[in-house]
Amino acid sequence: MQFYDSKQIEVMLSAEEIAARIAALGRQITKDYEGLSGGLVIVGVLRGCFMFLADLARAIDLPLEVDFLGVSSYGEAQESSGVVRMTQDLSRPVAGKHVLVVEDIVDTGLTLKYLLENLATRHPASVKVAALLHKPARTRVENPIDYLGFEIPDRFVIGYGLDYESKLRNLPFIGVNIGGSTPWKA
Ligand code: 5GP
Repeated sequence: MQFYDSKQIEVMLSAEEIAARIAALGRQITKDYEGLSGGLVIVGVLRGCFMFLADLARAIDLPLEVDFLGVSSYGEAQESSGVVRMTQDLSRPVAGKHVLVVEDIVDTGLTLKYLLENLATRHPASVKVAALLHKPARTRVENPIDYLGFEIPDRFVIGYGLDYESKLRNLPFIGVNIGGSTPWKA
């Protein structure tokens, strides 16, 4: 029994490919932040980040803190409205700390732009960005992405934290719905 219809979902990035890339990102981040004073706090952008953040945090060999920000994105639609709203704030101040924002995907870049401007007002020691996916073809505002998993084509992707009508976040890989109808079993 499988909760999704594998004939309707094309695999774009397998669980193994994702794991290998995250291990490499973790090694790079560990090297870059080792010995820095102030402490590292990784800030996940809910909700799509949760799986990437869980794996990335375990790939970083440093005594980091974890916090989350909530933002509204598409709602039920698959197009960015361009209006970003914060739905959940950090639980602790980040002044003097090194902040690493952890995003599932940078699409138009509007969400990240808003978050980076917001975080800058809180006087962190530094702010960098780790994103699992980036769709360069969709960019409306440019942002620095310091640690990128994969550049992908302009397709609506699902799984590994990313939703399809609020479901399928628990797929262990990144895929595309090629079937048309909802690709899960009732
Ligand atoms: P942006 O503000 O960069 O346009 O969009 C960022 C947010 O939109 C992401 O954090 C994600 O929640 C959502 N998003 C963008 N592209 C996709 C996609 O291909 N699939 C899914 N499921 N969500 C996406």
